[in-house]
Amino acid sequence: MTRPTPWSSGIASEDDDHPKEECGIFGILGQSNGDASAHTALGLHALQHRGQEAAGIVSFDGEHFHNHRALGHVGDNFNSEAVIGRLPGCNAIGHVRYSTTGETILRNVQPLFADFEFGGLAIAHNGNLTNAYGIRRRLVRQGCIFQSTSDTETIIHLVAISHYSTVVDRLIDALRQLEGAYSLIALTRRKLIGVRDPRGIRPLVLGRLEGGAHILASETCALDIIGAKFVRDVEPGEIIVIDEDGVRSIKPFAKTPSRFCVFEYIYFARPDSVVEGRSVYEVRKAIGAELARESHVPVDMVVPVPDSGVPAAIGYAQQAGVPFELGIIRNHYVGRTFIEPTQNIRHLGVKLKHNANAAKLRGKRIVLVDDSIVRGTTSMKIVEMVRNAGAAEVHMRISSPPTAHSCFYGIDTPATGELLASQLNVEAMARHIGVDSLAFISLDGLYRAVGLPGRDDETPEFCDACFSGDYPVRLVDVEEGPIPEQLSLLTERE
Ligand code: SF4
Repeated sequence: MTRPTPWSSGIASEDDDHPKEECGIFGILGQSNGDASAHTALGLHALQHRGQEAAGIVSFDGEHFHNHRALGHVGDNFNSEAVIGRLPGCNAIGHVRYSTTGETILRNVQPLFADFEFGGLAIAHNGNLTNAYGIRRRLVRQGCIFQSTSDTETIIHLVAISHYSTVVDRLIDALRQLEGAYSLIALTRRKLIGVRDPRGIRPLVLGRLEGGAHILASETCALDIIGAKFVRDVEPGEIIVIDEDGVRSIKPFAKTPSRFCVFEYIYFARPDSVVEGRSVYEVRKAIGAELARESHVPVDMVVPVPDSGVPAAIGYAQQAGVPFELGIIRNHYVGRTFIEPTQNIRHLGVKLKHNANAAKLRGKRIVLVDDSIVRGTTSMKIVEMVRNAGAAEVHMRISSPPTAHSCFYGIDTPATGELLASQLNVEAMARHIGVDSLAFISLDGLYRAVGLPGRDDETPEFCDACFSGDYPVRLVDVEEGPIPEQLSLLTERE
């Protein structure tokens, strides 16, 4: 993936004020009728919520690798027999990503591919490597020539210079040198390989099609779309190697307590996915119920900020015994790339996506439920919109704790200083956003909603660093400070 690591830029749009998942990955091996790439396109379509700005597929037909990578949605680029026909083979991997804009950024679109003495290797990565820059600098000094600004390319170079003979051993050798969050899917001439980092920060699941093909994917919703059965989650620190001999599991890393990203439950994963044994939808409802127990105030109705606030709002309304109403309607036909050409038009931005259901809101006291507040820009516009529609009182309830710290593990969040919760306390945030009251779920409440007694501060079950500041993996590159060199032909702001 590419996030705002020191050598790349990640510019979040102010009009879409949410943290952004940066990648979804999918792989299939053994699709005997040769349409692995069509299955991969479907899988990526189901994972589109994890990255909307670029997509790519690499297939292998028994002799050659083929690839197609493009900026834009899966449905816009992998929608014709002509494109899928140029990606033949029984094995394929694919990737969707959130990226910055600009044509040259196509070089960063995954899967990345390289030809080695042992044959070709394609890699798709979800996550972020926290020490890749230091390693990249060493590799550049040794003569490696980087083609992209992606931290994923560091893995390719480490595999290339490894002294081990097999591709799996070379990959293990490379990953032992790297730190951070990574769920990877790799394709070689004979193998499909899946890896989760030792803490299992990002998700990865194993599935199977009835005809025998094996699948690896970021989420179970990508299995559902092709009719594949969920086999199991890939475990933290596990490498799954799939070839004609079947499925092999290797655990080459020192055992470390797992720290899955809790924000996957709150916002990133699709609600119809089952993640680490828990239904995302049910967890979101449980968070809403917990939020109601913690901070309910007398109101006439509970209104979700659609779509991501819906399951938590249902849970909240059920727990509080207050009607759930669609007081805000979302326009599903507004693309994320809608062009807003003038400043005058741009300030209307949020109404392109959401409109108040004035007939329902007029004169009513409402609780608005949303999943997070990042800069607060969208929340302000939504609150203004429902007040203009006649809401008598507006109370906002957020199904995450205050996001006060940046993520360095594969989610694009603004710098810590731009996060509203890093600047203001809850009361000041409420005044800034313009609500009568504001409350966030507590960190303990969040852990209760996923079925635990609360947060164990000694050994927390999850990564919750963007709320707690407790980063489970060292931020080596960040600690080493700003990066002076230009490490590829891509400048920071292309
Ligand atoms: S910092 Fe937040 S968004 Fe990033 S991995 Fe941890 S919990 Fe997830």
